[in-house]
Amino acid sequence: MTRPCTDFSHLITDKLKERFWAKVDTRGGCWLWRASLANRFGYGQFSINNKVYAAHRVSFVITHGRMPKDLLLHICDNPPCVNPAHLREGSYKENVHDMIAKGRAGYHKIIGEKNGNSKLSDKAVKEIIEKYDPEKKNAPALAKEYNITPSLIYMILHGQRRRYLTGAQEYTIDGNKVEIDERYKVEIKKNET
Ligand SMILES: [Zn+2]
Repeated sequence: MTRPCTDFSHLITDKLKERFWAKVDTRGGCWLWRASLANRFGYGQFSINNKVYAAHRVSFVITHGRMPKDLLLHICDNPPCVNPAHLREGSYKENVHDMIAKGRAGYHKIIGEKNGNSKLSDKAVKEIIEKYDPEKKNAPALAKEYNITPSLIYMILHGQRRRYLTGAQEYTIDGNKVEIDERYKVEIKKNET
């Protein structure tokens, strides 16, 4: 991801931890977030200094004292869960492969070859995932190569298909707004079922 994630690890205090865990139901295997959830994705939301963060990320930072390196994945597939034992760091590639393997997130529905409005073949999507290198920050170059917008590259890498399906017009990653190309929004609306 070329957008830097805001590091909030220095903002963790005992008082904040107390405020955080007061919102968590730790009775089951999955520790469920009892406060507000992100609209369509189901992640818990927790605010620090008026900025909203994904609760499972905050849980990770509280537990490990540092930010996750890349993506933070739920091994339990349960978005509102903040049990640190159910979270693991992963790469973008891994996340997309995992998503394809599990057939979730409407992946093929949106970018599958059979979709008449699809801009990309399955092969091209796989290539993009393989070629993406966060060190090189090459998302804009890939976007050019495949004649798509950088935002679509980020969508693929982040596995944000469901947001698309639900017709969300924008989303944020750690407080950074990610723009969705205007043309693509229209296509997605047409595809909604
Ligand atoms: Zn869990």
